[in-house]
Amino acid sequence: MTHVIDGNAVAQRIRDDLSENIDTLEADGTTPTLATVLMSDDPASETYVSMKQDDCEEVGIEAIDIEIEPDAPAEELFETIERLNDDESVDGILVQMPVPEHVDQRAVLRAIDPAKDVDGFHPENVGRLVAGEPRYKPCTPHGIQKLLAAADVDPEGKDAVVVGRSDIVGKPMANLLMQKTEGGNATVTVCHSRTEDLPAKTRQADIVIAAAGVPEMIDGSMLSDGVVVIDVGINRVEADTEKGYELVGDVEFESAKEKASAITPVPGGVGPMTRAMLLYNTVKAAGNRADIEVEL
Ligand code: NDP
Repeated sequence: MTHVIDGNAVAQRIRDDLSENIDTLEADGTTPTLATVLMSDDPASETYVSMKQDDCEEVGIEAIDIEIEPDAPAEELFETIERLNDDESVDGILVQMPVPEHVDQRAVLRAIDPAKDVDGFHPENVGRLVAGEPRYKPCTPHGIQKLLAAADVDPEGKDAVVVGRSDIVGKPMANLLMQKTEGGNATVTVCHSRTEDLPAKTRQADIVIAAAGVPEMIDGSMLSDGVVVIDVGINRVEADTEKGYELVGDVEFESAKEKASAITPVPGGVGPMTRAMLLYNTVKAAGNRADIEVEL
């Protein structure tokens, strides 16, 4: 029987644990606080930010919601970040990406105080992750580590193939899987759009992490028996539904499930974990402020 890994259930457990940590912090007089900054009128970005705000409310994190007009000068965003950096009551700052074209995205990531960079994208935090001293692990790969652990999958000694090399998913995922720590110690192959003969790579994997953003590009014929499949992809494809589309992953679920010992669905797999780990990083940041260790 294939284990379909329930990301919603694992994320709920994490939120419950976090609520306990938040109670401890509150008793100490510290309210974990996340500031979200949205400089976009893209409906998907608006939805992501409002989901993050709702998540905060559920666990007891104070959420500050800042919206900047997409055509405002870049300085307005940088001044906002500076103000939040200086505000001692703010633990985490999240600028929803992408920012408008006239704003330098890399400069935005560098402007956020690394101690408040709960996404883990500031170059200092990226460096710390690579050096094996992470401050905040990026939310999606960290969530995947937690999902694997919840499904009793230990990557140690396994062949892991990561499909995708983005800064937010593929690269940090590969890094976490190769670290000499719990949830790591795998032998990692990273594939991307220039990889030749991808099926040969995925077929030799014990764990496949699919993060390419290409609908259902990995099917059962590309997998070996007993493989663990983590599907990061969230792709809108036209469908005969009320909204006119449906969400599919990068994995063709039915044929992959035939081969897999464990697999994540889309939706309800990695997505809820990404959101939960953002809450975790925010509570951890508040713990740093209060000198109280936050662990899951
Ligand atoms: P990017 O577009 O930044 O990166 C995609 C990566 O996949 C690139 O490295 C690209 O290669 C590689 N790739 C593209 N096509 C192929 C192909 N045919 N074969 C092999 N590799 C390929 O995407 P993200 O990393 O930001 O996101 C990936 C997917 O995950 C998206 O669907 C996104 O929506 C989803 N996502 C889901 C999250 C969640 O919480 N579930 C969180 C974040 C993202 P190259 O570098 O050569 O261009």
